[in-house]
Amino acid sequence: MRTGKKGKIAYILQSVSIIPLLIFGIVILLLGTHIFTRAMYNEVETELRNVCRNLTTAIDSLYPGDYRLVEEGKGYRLYKGSHDLTNDHTLIDQVKQNTDLDITLFYQDTRILTTILNKGGERIIGTGVSTTVMEDVFETGKAKFYTNVHVYSTTYFSYYAPLTNSDGTVAGMLFVGKPTAEVDASVRDSVYPLVIADIILMIVISFFTFLYTRRFTSALLQIRGFLKEVSVGNLNASLSGEVLRRNDELSEIGRSAQNMQRSLRNLVEQDALTSLANRRSGDQHLRQLMKNAAADGTSFCVALGDIDNFKRVNDTYGHDCGDLVLKQVADIFRRRMRGNGFAARWGGEEFLLIFENMDLTRAKLLLKEILDDIRSAECRYDDVSVCVTMTFGLTQGSTENVTELLRNVDERLYRGKSSGKNQVV
Ligand code: GH3
Ligand code: MG
Ligand code: MG
Repeated sequence: MRTGKKGKIAYILQSVSIIPLLIFGIVILLLGTHIFTRAMYNEVETELRNVCRNLTTAIDSLYPGDYRLVEEGKGYRLYKGSHDLTNDHTLIDQVKQNTDLDITLFYQDTRILTTILNKGGERIIGTGVSTTVMEDVFETGKAKFYTNVHVYSTTYFSYYAPLTNSDGTVAGMLFVGKPTAEVDASVRDSVYPLVIADIILMIVISFFTFLYTRRFTSALLQIRGFLKEVSVGNLNASLSGEVLRRNDELSEIGRSAQNMQRSLRNLVEQDALTSLANRRSGDQHLRQLMKNAAADGTSFCVALGDIDNFKRVNDTYGHDCGDLVLKQVADIFRRRMRGNGFAARWGGEEFLLIFENMDLTRAKLLLKEILDDIRSAECRYDDVSVCVTMTFGLTQGSTENVTELLRNVDERLYRGKSSGKNQVV
């Protein structure tokens, strides 16, 4: 059955279920990345602060005393207590080796000791610090963490802490830094699995949602296709079992549509009084049977029967009694023809019988039994019992011409009527 292309509802359903999921996935991703990045930055800040504090403590305990700048010869030297710090990089190099962090010791705003090298591999001693840092740390005497400080050719996550003398004055600053690129790389490395897991999860959920909605919309489309077929008069269209097996409103709609088709078929093909097939469907059935018989060579027989003196029944007992008789005769046909062929009300009190897969001898035998049944049937109406007889014309089926075949049985029926009725001719 043609189900047509994917419908609007299919798109709407899929959008309604997949778009919120995508938005949710993206929000989770952004939020996750943000939270993770913040956590990473905090961790870096803690690390830098700790190293800075430990180093300050180490310097203070190794070289007790204040920072002093002393003029010697042509230049100046920086003392801590009695120790000459100038060019003594042992301690900060050691820390750099252990932590992989860059260290600088400033006297006021000038680098006196540093692990940061220029392109020529020389320490960038003597260079200055930015005014922002001077204002934030040196002048306030408070330590500060920065995420973006440019030193020479590198951007650092930096922690600056003031170096104070015993009288509370700020003599210089200690810088501990970690290249931003390093931190960003480890954020990237840690966030990648989250991104990939999130994308995979979104794809998997979208896929299952798609499958589920497709099952739903496919049922909807099949019902639509079925109703379209019925609406153009195809009363033999069938609805797939997939729809009927569902246990929901859609299978209910499917079943109702099927019942509607059945009712329509009955209206069109059934005789209202006797519930036998009507003339239209009897004719169709006969034509189909002739086609099949022509194809596979099976034999069949056709009989046309008419109730004898039926007008008299109507006239004597009334039309309702006549209807009752018609129903009773129809019941006999229905019962006797089950498994033997097909019966239709051909019009008024005339009936068409088709004996399928049967030769003339067997058909004649069966028809005589049917006639016996009719003769002996008593139709009770009010207080009276009405009995009727019938006359039948019977012939071997041919596969050539329906009209010719029907003319043939009709002619035999007429002969029966004119030669005493109540017989098979
Ligand atoms: P014959 O033996 O020659 O067939 O005589 P007959 O009286 O049966 O034939 P006739 O054709 O004269 O009368 C048929 C009657 O059947 C006339 C009509 O009123 C009646 N009849 C046709 N259809 C119905 C029906 O649906 N219900 C009832 N009650 N009567 C019907
Ligand atoms: Mg008649
Ligand atoms: Mg009659």
